[in-house]
Order: sequence, then structure tokens, then C-alpha cells
Amino acid sequence: MSSQNPVFIPGPTNIPDELRRAIDLPTMDHRSSAFADMLHPALAGIKRVVKLRDGEAIIFPATGTGAWEAAVTNLLSPGDTVLAARHGMFSHRWIDLCRRQGFNVEVIETEWGLGAPAEALGAALSADKAHKIRAVLVTHNETATGVRSDVASVRKALDAAGHPALLLVDGVSSIASMDFRMDEWGVDAAITGSQKGFMLPAGLSIVALSRKAIAAMATSTSPRCFFDFKDMLKSNASGGFPYTPPVSLIAGLAHSIRMLEGEGLENVFARHYRIAEGVRRATRAWGLALCAKSPELYSDTVSAIVVPANVDSTRIVTHAAEKYQVAFSVGLGEVAGKVFRIGHLGSMSDVMALSGIATAEMAMVDLGLPIELGSGVAAAQEFYRTSTSNRQTRAA
Ligand SMILES: *Cc1c(COP(=O)(O)O)cnc(C)c1O
Repeated sequence: MSSQNPVFIPGPTNIPDELRRAIDLPTMDHRSSAFADMLHPALAGIKRVVKLRDGEAIIFPATGTGAWEAAVTNLLSPGDTVLAARHGMFSHRWIDLCRRQGFNVEVIETEWGLGAPAEALGAALSADKAHKIRAVLVTHNETATGVRSDVASVRKALDAAGHPALLLVDGVSSIASMDFRMDEWGVDAAITGSQKGFMLPAGLSIVALSRKAIAAMATSTSPRCFFDFKDMLKSNASGGFPYTPPVSLIAGLAHSIRMLEGEGLENVFARHYRIAEGVRRATRAWGLALCAKSPELYSDTVSAIVVPANVDSTRIVTHAAEKYQVAFSVGLGEVAGKVFRIGHLGSMSDVMALSGIATAEMAMVDLGLPIELGSGVAAAQEFYRTSTSNRQTRAA
């Protein structure tokens, strides 16, 4: 794989040079005040990115999966019931994790390519008169299918049912790339990692908590140690960590947030929309469809593209890697072999996206798909040419 070519996988994402330099640090004493000066801006920055005013942000040395585990083990007790829809590999994995942690998961099976079904979730909540359901899990951006769920509609369903369950949201592949409104949507725990929208290497679990979630910690009896929120909040308050912190990544996170806010968060979201829309127009020009069933579900961070039935999508990914040294992503689970994915989040520009579209096109033509060389590139060029202003904000 050429180190000059960007990756088009939905995480880990390309790391901007500036950020790579920011994490190249000598060893420091993590019990010194210099560490607190690094930690506190990172924690405050997370809250701004997820639009949480009153609550807490927490960082663990792990990945998004660790943040899933931390959220459920700190907020729930063994045997508690949680409600979740399964509509892709990531919602599936969170359900699996909850079951292995001893929770009872009520699953609403949903077609892959659709979002979290607010109506069906609402019906399950209304039927739960005894309030046995303690939490509703939502995967904001299902990375396997390129589907964005409407979190606000799930909040409405909870409110309409008058149900007190916590709302826990996986924003691993959306936060810092797509708009996320924790306060407005009434999200109790928002979950992410360092290697997607924050453009860093993998290594941080990131969780933001509402006041309601913080209150729920007090009654949770699930065993936990490494991922204990109480230990972490107590140590953070005095500027430290309960164990050795991943200092460079925390410094990197603070720097990443400075870069995102330098560009302007709303500009970052608009850039992701624009880049994604170019990929979608290219897909249409190829005569192919997205896995996401309708436009309001389209993800701005990853596109899962359905290939003709006689083609194994994995071959496109393997071929592009071997011949052109460019990484795309394979289909996972139910859509393995049926879709390939173009990740277009993080440090990404229109021009980088054009190289990915051009490469996907060459790989598909090489493999005999009935696609006209240049058709997708031209469709994206036309969109980028007319949607990019001269006073373009600087991409991260
Ligand atoms: C990447 C991803 C995860 C898992 O994160 P890891 O950092 O690989 O543990 C969870 N959920 C979604 C939606 C993801 O995209």
C-alpha cells in the first residue's frame, strides 16, 4: 500500500501531517500539572463537539468498543433490559456485547439499509408499562451500510411513550464529521473513538454523559474496574487519571478539536456533506445504488455501494489494494460480497475524494463491470466545481 495514497476506509481515517506532529511528544510525568493542562481542554472540547452543555466527558485508553462497554456497564445493572434495533454490523456488535455483559436485549430486527425504526421502538416503549427497559441503544451512523439514523425521532418516541429509559447513542463514525446534538436530542451517553472524525490513530474511547446518565451511575451494580466512570471522574477532577494515561493521544485530541474548530464545526459538517454528495453522484453515474434505502438515510461519512449480483464486491476492494495501492472497505455481515464501502470522513477534501472515485472506477472497469471510465469522476467533478465557493474554508 503506498503511503502517499489516502485511505478510503471508514476509520481509521487519514491523519493530517499537523496532527501527526502534534502527537510526537517526549515522555512527560502524567502526575504533573502539565498533564492537567492537556487533559482539561480535550474534555471541554469533546463537550463542544457533541453539543453538550451540562454533563461530563470521559476518555479511556481503548477504542469505540471499549466506550460501548463502559457506557452499558456504568449505567446498567446485570439483568437489566435494553432495547435496540439490529440493522448492520455495528448495531449487531453492540447488541452482542450487551448480551455477553449479562443484559437482556430486546432486539427489533430491521432491514440492513434502513435506520433505527423510531415507530417500532416507540411501540415497544409504549408496551413496556412497567418500565423494564432501562436503556435504548441507537447507532447514529451504521458504518456497515452507510445509514444515518434520526436520533431526534427516537427521542420523540421515548417522550411520546412517557418512558424514562436512557438514550445511549453510538456516534463512533459520525461525531466530529456529522452534526451531533446531545442536549437537543436528549442523548444520555454519546460514544466515539479517536480514529474516525477526530483523525487520530486508534486508542481512545470517548464518552459524553448527560446529568441523567451521571445520576444513573449511582445505582448501577455491574462489575467494572478499568472502565469505572466514578474513578475516572474523581481523578480527572484533580487533573489526573486512575492509571497511566495515553498522553500523546490526549494531546492529539485537544489539537484535533482545535483544528476542527479552526475550520468551524458547521463547515466541517458541510464539507462532509459535499464530499459525500460527490461520491453519491458518482455512484448514480455508474448505474449503481447505495445500500441506504432513501436520501434522508444517506451517511455523509461512508457510502456502501451495492454491486451487480454477479460480482463479489470483495474483489473490487482486493483489486484496488493490489493494483492501485488504495484502500476501500469490504461489506460486512449480511452485506458481505454485496457492497463495497468508500469511507470519506476525517481529513478529506474534494480533490482527495476525486482520486478515490477515479480509483474505484478503474478497479470496477478492470473487473469487467459495465461502467464507463470517467463517468463517476465527471459527475463528482461537476458537483464539486459548482458547489465549492472560492472562499472555501480550509479542510482539516
Ligand atoms: C468503528 C466503529 C465502532 C467500533 O470502534 P472500534 O474503535 O473499532 O472499537 C463502533 N461503532 C461504529 C458505528 C463504528 O463505526
